[in-house]
Formats: sequence, structure tokens, C-alpha cells
Amino acid sequence: MTVVSPEQHRALAERAGRELEDAPALEILSWAAKTFGPRFCVTSSMEDAVVAHLASRAFPGVDVVFLDTGYHFPETIGTRDAVEAVMDVRVITLTPRRSVAEQDAEHGPRLHDRDPDLCCALRKVKPLEEGLTGYDAWATGLRRDESPTRANTPVVGWDERRGKVKVSPIARWTQDDVDAYVAEHGVLTNPLLMDGYTSVGCAPCTRQVLAGEDARAGRWAGRGKTECGLHG
Ligand code: SF4
Repeated sequence: MTVVSPEQHRALAERAGRELEDAPALEILSWAAKTFGPRFCVTSSMEDAVVAHLASRAFPGVDVVFLDTGYHFPETIGTRDAVEAVMDVRVITLTPRRSVAEQDAEHGPRLHDRDPDLCCALRKVKPLEEGLTGYDAWATGLRRDESPTRANTPVVGWDERRGKVKVSPIARWTQDDVDAYVAEHGVLTNPLLMDGYTSVGCAPCTRQVLAGEDARAGRWAGRGKTECGLHG
């Protein structure tokens, strides 16, 4: 087996980011599947299954990694279970080292209200870091139009923190593109999207959005936080 160094992967990612900037999402995922094979996975928050659906077309049986923080809405867990049941993917659920009860005992209850950065580090960032160990590349559903912090997301880039290739096949898509894909392919979506939520995360840190707010305004509202740290 050829051993590829992180420097080679970085160069590969940067070149692919340039060459695939205008490519359709399916072509970007086909490139990732062909380049990395089983060392490629998709992560999904189960807000919708658009990227998982696209990836299953490019790479049937692809690993779909879901972070179960212990704080999800029941609708999100239901979406995960439905994706596993009906799509040609292998869902892998990652969990934090400590249950919510164990975290409460160690740090006090409702850490998400007092120190959301620490809560996200313990329940999202660390488990994902450990869960991605066996992969060289991972795909996300990040879109440039979601928020100013995501405006420069490359379709293929280098994840410096984890030393992996990061693929964002729908980075250039708009919400209308997502809606059209969902309608055309009958893709599973989280029922909360029909109930005023435009971005779905952990229940204690997610609220419905108001008219005129951006799609992620309902995440950590009023807490001066916009990202969980997975994409920093
Ligand atoms: Fe904790 Fe909220 Fe982050 Fe979920 S989104 S891990 S509940 S701080």
C-alpha cells in the first residue's frame, strides 16, 4: 500500500479545491470516493440527508458519521434511524466519553448554558476527532450562504487541525438548491425544518428562527457563539 504523507494530502486537497470549484456536487463526491475509497466518510447532523444521499450515489455503502451528543431532539435521532433504514449507507454513531449525567456530576448541570465552548469540546469536537481517526477525508454539508463564518468554505480543502482532507460538496449551493434536491429525490429531512427551525443542533442550544434572521441565528442565540468548533 502506498503511504501518502500529510503534505501530499494537503497538496492534493488544495489542487482539487481549485480544479473542482465549479464541479457539480456529485462529481466532487465521486472524486473523493475514487481518491480515498473506504478511508472517506460523510458527517451528518441529521438536519437533512442531502449530502449522505449524494454520497451514497457516488459511493454506495459509504460511512455516514453522526455525533450523538446526548442532547439531540428526538426528531434528529428519528431522522438518523430513518436514514440508516432506507439509504445505501453505513451509519456510524459516535458518542462522547461521558454521558450527560456523568458530565453533570463532573462539571455541574447545564454546562451548555455556562460554558458552551467546553460542552461542545467534550461532546462534539473530541468525539469527532477520535471518530475520524480511521479516515483520510471527510465530507460535510457546509454551505457558504449559511453564515458569514462559512462564506469562504472551499469545496475541497485541508483540515489543518485533524490533518485530513475536508470535502464540502454543496458549499456553493443555496437553500433553494437544497430544497430542489430534496424535492427531486425525496430525500429525508428532519421534521423540525417544517416547524420554524432552519438549522438543527442540540436541543438546549437551538431555537426557531425569526423572519429576516440568517439560517444559523437559532444556534446558541444570545450566547455570542456561532460555531461548535467542528469547523474552525
Ligand atoms: Fe453542548 Fe450545546 Fe454544544 Fe450541544 S451544542 S455540545 S448542548 S454546548
